[in-house]
Amino acid sequence: MTTTSKIIEEFKLITGNKYVVTSKWGKEPFNKGWRYGGGDAVAVIKPGTLLEIWKVLQICVKHDIIVIMQAANTGLTGGSTPFGNDYDRPIVIINTLRINSIQLINNGNQILALAGSSLYDLENKLKPLEKEPHSVIGSTSIGASIVGGVCNNSGGSLVHRGPAYTEFALYAKVNKDGKLELINELDINLGSNPEEILVNLENNNYTSSDILKSKKLGSDDKYSEIVRGIDENTAARFNADNRLLYSASGSAGKIAVFALRLDTYKAPKKSKVFYVGSNNQDDFWKIRREILRNFNELPRLGDYMHRDCYDAAKKYSKDTFIVIEKLGTNFLPSLFEFKRIVDIIAEKIKFLPEKFSDKLMQFLSNFWPNHLPKKMEAFRDQFEHHWIIEMTDDGINEAEIYFKDFFKDKKGDFFICNSNEGKKAMLHRYVSASAIGRYQALNKKNIGEMMSLDIAFPRNEKNWLEILPEDINNKLELKFYYGHLFCHVFHHNYILKKGVDAKKLKKELLEIYDKRGAEYPAEHNVGHEYKAMPLLTEFYKKLDPTNFFNPGIGQTSKLKNWK
Ligand SMILES: Cc1cc2nc3c(=O)[nH]c(=O)nc-3n(C[C@H](O)[C@H](O)[C@H](O)COP(=O)(O)OP(=O)(O)OC[C@H]3O[C@@H](n4cnc5c(N)ncnc54)[C@H](O)[C@@H]3O)c2cc1C
Repeated sequence: MTTTSKIIEEFKLITGNKYVVTSKWGKEPFNKGWRYGGGDAVAVIKPGTLLEIWKVLQICVKHDIIVIMQAANTGLTGGSTPFGNDYDRPIVIINTLRINSIQLINNGNQILALAGSSLYDLENKLKPLEKEPHSVIGSTSIGASIVGGVCNNSGGSLVHRGPAYTEFALYAKVNKDGKLELINELDINLGSNPEEILVNLENNNYTSSDILKSKKLGSDDKYSEIVRGIDENTAARFNADNRLLYSASGSAGKIAVFALRLDTYKAPKKSKVFYVGSNNQDDFWKIRREILRNFNELPRLGDYMHRDCYDAAKKYSKDTFIVIEKLGTNFLPSLFEFKRIVDIIAEKIKFLPEKFSDKLMQFLSNFWPNHLPKKMEAFRDQFEHHWIIEMTDDGINEAEIYFKDFFKDKKGDFFICNSNEGKKAMLHRYVSASAIGRYQALNKKNIGEMMSLDIAFPRNEKNWLEILPEDINNKLELKFYYGHLFCHVFHHNYILKKGVDAKKLKKELLEIYDKRGAEYPAEHNVGHEYKAMPLLTEFYKKLDPTNFFNPGIGQTSKLKNWK
């Protein structure tokens, strides 16, 4: 048997020493999930080209090593990292972020996204063409990748586009005989063998005549119709939706994706953010129904936040907000690197506390003045429920007339944000996802576990705001609610009281959602947190018959050949 150190040398010959990480500290940001899960890998490999990925995969197949494909590692359910240490084979993580190019094709109506390219870069690349990406998610602002989004069928904020989806992909799979295969479903003539295909793609070595016209979809073309179905008793979107499971789409790392071909969309000429507040949840129920049923123009985006979540994000996500606002998304990797170094040093210095970097950042953020606009703060004092709705073009006028009329005899209210307020409102909502993690890091000693549920309610659900039975409520220290209200997709973040059995509580909560016809996970994918539905497990087994990639996902078997 080849020793691990010999295998590591083989990897190094492909990528160079620098890009094969084996030290404990070096591996940590890749081994640990953003919010959930973690485990060990023998190495984290950061290939610089598609061909290097292919060669690394060949070595892994040869030595029977598990591969976990990873991009920005912002997945929230542990699906982008190892989980625990009960695997039957060693693991290698292939992180793709160095391979970040995006190629425009078909006059910018479509793009080819290489494995590590980000949604943020795509937005910037499309701006001069007055186009925009298929998908905008909360983590666009922190560097989430295009490919990771499609692999997770990530949902996000866009009301009319639906989950990230495409039927065009270039990927490697390990077939039932244990052989590595490259599958070109991009419908672009790139060559006849894997090496040729990968090099030609990476070097832009194809012409427009190589790009075949195809009936396949480069995005979800049905969602705007589905989301308007307000009387339907099924969810608008969720991860186990058979409609959207197609090779790379929804594959959750069960193949290795090299590139995807996706649609782009015409950017609106104008857009305005409406900030809406109310103390009556039924107001939002009515607004949702009336807008989805009657408006000619669907909102571009519409995210809900409860006041408690607003407060938590204001306090615990303030530093992230300020860093993104002042220094930009591209600075975040440096920030995380800095945090990690601080924690390494702190661990060696006995008198410094656990999670020192979080404590330090939290402390420093207190010195920064209030970062939120005055009008939002006034709404915070007046209203429990907040809804950030972006309208575009003719929809702006439609919404203004509608909201003026709607609130003339009600206690709620709205205002139209100027561009600075609009940006801040949106960023505040996006960074709210990290508030719970910070809260837990700061208060670990006195509280129980953290739990985050990602739920899609049926489109006709009236009681969208959770009202929990007394006995369950008593087990919770804190609840933060936010979500994509038009889509009826909600994120219920809980901090449990100390000593509460998290597994039991989760089961109780999921039983309540089951009774209400909800689907879960809605958009964060199963990771290691949720059990995959039989339909999803079958999809994974078909993609990966020997269980070579990301085993254990959706709480399935971690063993070779799915034993
Ligand atoms: C602050 C914050 C806000 C968020 N907001 C949203 C939101 O609004 N909506 C939403 O749906 N999600 C959201 N997420 C979750 C997460 O960001 C998304 O799932 C995102 O699409 C993951 O992208 P990534 O590049 O980080 O992928 P990763 O986390 O690195 O990977 C995601 C999955 O894709 C697989 N994968 C990655 N690259 C490849 C590849 N080349 N080949 C095969 N498999 C691959 C991984 O194995 C994993 O299973 C949020 C997360 C955070 C931290």
